[in-house]
Amino acid sequence: MTNRRSALVLAVEIFILLVIVVFLAGSARTKVTISNRICLGTACSITVYGNASKAKSAIGKAWDAVTELENHISVNLPYSEVSLANAMAGSGQWLEISEQTYELVDFAIRMSDKTSGAMNPALGSLIAMWGIGTDDARVPSQEELETALASAKVGNILLQRRDGRCFIQITEAATVLNLGAVGKGWAADVAAKVLSSCGIENALLDFGGNIYALGKFPTTFGARDFSIGLQDPDQYRGMNFSVVSVHNLSVVTSGSYERFFEGPDGHRYSHIIDPSTGWSIENDIQSVSIIGPSSAVCDAMSTSFFILGPEGAASVLQDGFDGYFAVFLLGNGADRRVVQVGSDGILE
Ligand code: ADP
Ligand code: MG
Repeated sequence: MTNRRSALVLAVEIFILLVIVVFLAGSARTKVTISNRICLGTACSITVYGNASKAKSAIGKAWDAVTELENHISVNLPYSEVSLANAMAGSGQWLEISEQTYELVDFAIRMSDKTSGAMNPALGSLIAMWGIGTDDARVPSQEELETALASAKVGNILLQRRDGRCFIQITEAATVLNLGAVGKGWAADVAAKVLSSCGIENALLDFGGNIYALGKFPTTFGARDFSIGLQDPDQYRGMNFSVVSVHNLSVVTSGSYERFFEGPDGHRYSHIIDPSTGWSIENDIQSVSIIGPSSAVCDAMSTSFFILGPEGAASVLQDGFDGYFAVFLLGNGADRRVVQVGSDGILE
């Protein structure tokens, strides 16, 4: 009897010891390194799970790549490639640009095409005119909008490859290239690729609401998908109306509650511009989140789906975007509803 009891006690002790060993092994594995920066005009963060010194060096390389991208594409830096291309618009001259800027502009033009122009990289003069998100935000006159709209043509942005070198030309002086609707997503993809190439398997990137979940979230009892909350616009920050579980996927949200300008009349103007009118978009969309493999694609869609709505989003997604989903939050109060759209159409 005593022997059997001591065997039982021993078994319990071994079990407790095993649990402690598994827990300690788990906590060693789940070392977390977090790095925050203000870049691309917003707060960005990279969180890496795993060996800290490997994480630090990989994060450093990822930020270098993001900084290089920003130096090329920002319209706020006077000597970025995009600013120089805008300054040379209408001169008839080609400007040599980096491979990366070429690829991003080419991508933006293709996404503009895929979204029937709802995402328009030639909208720069209208974006500057509204100035939403800056101290100079204002409501332009109908005349100003119409004049700017006449030159906001994506066809005025030409790209050329010659002998392995890349060139851009903007054919009309008043056309302004602005990559604000795709830059953060593209940057998140670039940073995730850098981390992967440095051997990082698990990380979470948040570039101003453009999330990329690389690999999985390690826990003591194994890896699990990252849980990404979709912000409830009617609640405090961090309170969600839904949560999505993802790995090796991006989640990008555009919200009319995020960046807007309150006009002298108290009216709220969203930072997304309807390219068919030049006016800040007015509809019942509170937010749209896109989930899919490429953060750049998700970013382009988040902006354009705000204009296209669920039906328009369905026809874009059906046109070769398997693996992408959109979650719309529509309406207010009792009318509030969530509509999900995939490449099979609107999901009920
Ligand atoms: P955020 O930058 O807040 O994440 P988005 O990804 O939706 O939001 O991008 C919106 C930005 O893109 C605006 O701040 C503006 O610079 C630019 N933009 C607004 N409307 C359009 C549009 N229809 N097409 C292309 N760019 C746009
Ligand atoms: Mg976008």
